[in-house]
Amino acid sequence: MAGSGKFFVGGNWKCNGTKDSIAKLVSDLNSATLEADVDVVVSPPFVYIDQVKSSLTDRIEISGQNSWVGKGGAFTAWNSSKTSAASGSFLGILKGDMSSEKRMRSFIGKKAAYALSEGLGVIACIGEKLEEREAGKTFDVCFEQMKAFADAVPSWDNVVVAYEPVWAIGTGKVASPQQAQEVHVAVRDWLKKNVSEEVASKTRIIYGGSVNGGNCAELAKQEDIDGFLVGGASLKGPEFATIVNSVT
Ligand code: PGA
Repeated sequence: MAGSGKFFVGGNWKCNGTKDSIAKLVSDLNSATLEADVDVVVSPPFVYIDQVKSSLTDRIEISGQNSWVGKGGAFTAWNSSKTSAASGSFLGILKGDMSSEKRMRSFIGKKAAYALSEGLGVIACIGEKLEEREAGKTFDVCFEQMKAFADAVPSWDNVVVAYEPVWAIGTGKVASPQQAQEVHVAVRDWLKKNVSEEVASKTRIIYGGSVNGGNCAELAKQEDIDGFLVGGASLKGPEFATIVNSVT
């Protein structure tokens, strides 16, 4: 744990669940014992946010998964920051195809800036594709994505950075603890050089991509891994609790 603040574990439920399976997941989370010193946030599909809000323990914060760049309006299928902030303080996860297009990077940066201006927190995702890693471009790609956020956000106080290598998301191919640690250190160093020493030391940099109950402990031991963003394994309450409790 290098960033200040608590270990942070987010559960990204993506587009999964039925009313019944969500009720079961909530009930499993409500009865789980969670390490006190960990910030825990789950992001249900929008359609289930009310259901989760009315049944999930206050111990776990609820966030949305995405939002429009500004106020609501005539934007089909989007949600505004305010409607995305399911339990008040957290907007949720901002990701998309950050690496290929400058325009897309800037769009995601704008969403983060707007959410922060509304007093919400964001999880800003970065990460390289397999071909970029194989071409030795991992750091360059992550730094460009960091720059898109840095150019857009007025403050890093409510930003959690998630390093999510695209090749590890939903594939079962987790980054090794060394691979993740190496990028986390480089991103922290980038923050130090390009934003400030204070932001570099305070910002939590979490890892996402095929984290599960079996691999979380080794990853959590790495000095610069300040938590996790979990997809598939967050849909199983007991396994998600194991990940939350992997804090060292
Ligand atoms: P995964 O998803 O844990 O299923 O790989 C991670 C994410 O997309 O946040």
